[in-house]
Amino acid sequence: MDYQNRPQRQMHDVSALGLKCEECGAEIKELPFEPTKRDDGTYGRLYCQPCNRNRRKSFGGGDRGGFGGGRRDRY
Ligand SMILES: [Zn+2]
Repeated sequence: MDYQNRPQRQMHDVSALGLKCEECGAEIKELPFEPTKRDDGTYGRLYCQPCNRNRRKSFGGGDRGGFGGGRRDRY
């Protein structure tokens, strides 16, 4: 019963939505959050995982491990 300390964040399967990365145009199959549809029928700007990581990196500032937690460089 270790519900409290699961190391992995939950991923939402969004492959059925046919979402595209705003940055590189790659298909987004899963997101660390549940996308919500807006009034205009889109899901807003979404990014694939590599782009998301790059964006977060370029935000600068401290490395407080938002929802990354640690380094994961291998695929
Ligand atoms: Zn991308």
